[in-house]
Amino acid sequence: MCGIIGVSSYDDCATELFLGMNALQHRGQDASGIVTFSGHFRLVKGNGLVSQVFDAESLEGLPGKTGLGHVRYATQGTLEPAMAQPFYMNYPFGIAMVHNGNVDNSGELAAWLHDEQYRLIETTNDLELILYAFASELEKKPLPGIGSEDIFDAVGAVQRRVQGAYAVIALIAGKGLLGFKDPYGIRPLFLGKRTENGKVAWAFASETSCLEMLGYEIAKELAGGDAVLIDTDGNVQERHFSAAKPGAFCVFEYIYFAREDSSFCGSLVAEAREAMGKSLAKRFKERGLEPDVVIDVPTSAEFFAQGLADELGIPYRRGFVKNKYVGRSFIKPTQAERSRTVRLKLNPIPSVVRGKKVAVVDDSIVRGTTSKRIVELLRQAGAAKIYCVSAAPPLRFPCVYGIDMSVKTELIAGAKSLDEVAAFIGADELIYQSLEDVEACFPGVGLCSACFSGVYPTGISPESIERIERDRIAAKKAG
Ligand code: AMP
Repeated sequence: MCGIIGVSSYDDCATELFLGMNALQHRGQDASGIVTFSGHFRLVKGNGLVSQVFDAESLEGLPGKTGLGHVRYATQGTLEPAMAQPFYMNYPFGIAMVHNGNVDNSGELAAWLHDEQYRLIETTNDLELILYAFASELEKKPLPGIGSEDIFDAVGAVQRRVQGAYAVIALIAGKGLLGFKDPYGIRPLFLGKRTENGKVAWAFASETSCLEMLGYEIAKELAGGDAVLIDTDGNVQERHFSAAKPGAFCVFEYIYFAREDSSFCGSLVAEAREAMGKSLAKRFKERGLEPDVVIDVPTSAEFFAQGLADELGIPYRRGFVKNKYVGRSFIKPTQAERSRTVRLKLNPIPSVVRGKKVAVVDDSIVRGTTSKRIVELLRQAGAAKIYCVSAAPPLRFPCVYGIDMSVKTELIAGAKSLDEVAAFIGADELIYQSLEDVEACFPGVGLCSACFSGVYPTGISPESIERIERDRIAAKKAG
């Protein structure tokens, strides 16, 4: 998963990109990069958080009113610094690009680009394929008088050729800033407008909260198949290419990935999580369970836990303190290291749980490492009963669209029965959300819930799913 931002402003934009990337940091902590354009492209990128890769001096070396920013969470490809985005190329003109998502047909695309377009593919990052596919389509047009229609034609061709999930922002030298999405609209992308003393700036970003914090009003949420071009004079042109019906927006954005103050398809993430939390109360009533208190695994489960507590009519309390300076447990390479990191990250508050029947809510159970550790910690802290709650339905199928869950054998609910999962975790009860209840929280929204249902909206073949899984295992080994 990744966070992307692109700005077309009336002032130099590097600092704004830096601030926007900080607001998107939760979407990726592996690498960060900025490219700006001031007659020439300037690029700075590297592994690490935004604040580790950039300082005042590096931002000063990035002049230009137009630019792109990217925060990377490797879900595909290795962690080599060369894999950090943005990417750029010089022919048919300077084009810089960032993306969020995963391409399904990368093998086929790489073969076409190599054998028929004579392009040398140098990385295993899907963005390189999207960038070359776009450039190859644009190259068919009469240079150098390319206009917006030609750019939109190239986007349409890319959308037909490149399968999978992608939200893309491109900076085309002398032409403008372009945002587009795959026909299913799986990954998010928004356009914002800011007016200051009669001057107008435009920006694309993965989340509304990022744009709002930079003073933009949300002008548009790009849907599947949409493309928007902000030309160098600040004119906005839009095209809507063949969109899949219904769309397939990633449900995991609501469940885990996005910030609570962001909205997608008209639903604020905080409210959506609260509603999903409320619907979990049914499961308690069905089983005749009566917890004394609801706590959350901080911090992504907070709103689910509040919703559940409200609906059950019992208190919600903070039962754990989280040390936010410890790295993500999810990506530690070995199981032993993962368990240790969970322990270093979370410490219970005994007075909240001692002698109580505790419902502890996490947003999701992936490998089960966190839940197992949480149950042990709550027992040590004196909880009388522990009801473990997953606000997400059982994660059984790999995600091939850009969430780092592409290895089926790493999904505990994919490998074990729910009774076995409960036994592994060691809770007195294990409660999962149902997919119907999740879907009921988003009436009228076309969702991708492939990780729960195994129904992949792009119709990806089982062979491609296996290849993505193999590539991911190899990339994790390579580091
Ligand atoms: P696990 O310990 O493997 O069961 O992972 C569950 C924990 O990882 C939960 O606390 C989630 O908040 C978090 N999580 C879920 N999905 C992801 C993801 N794709 N990347 C990183 N963390 C995740």
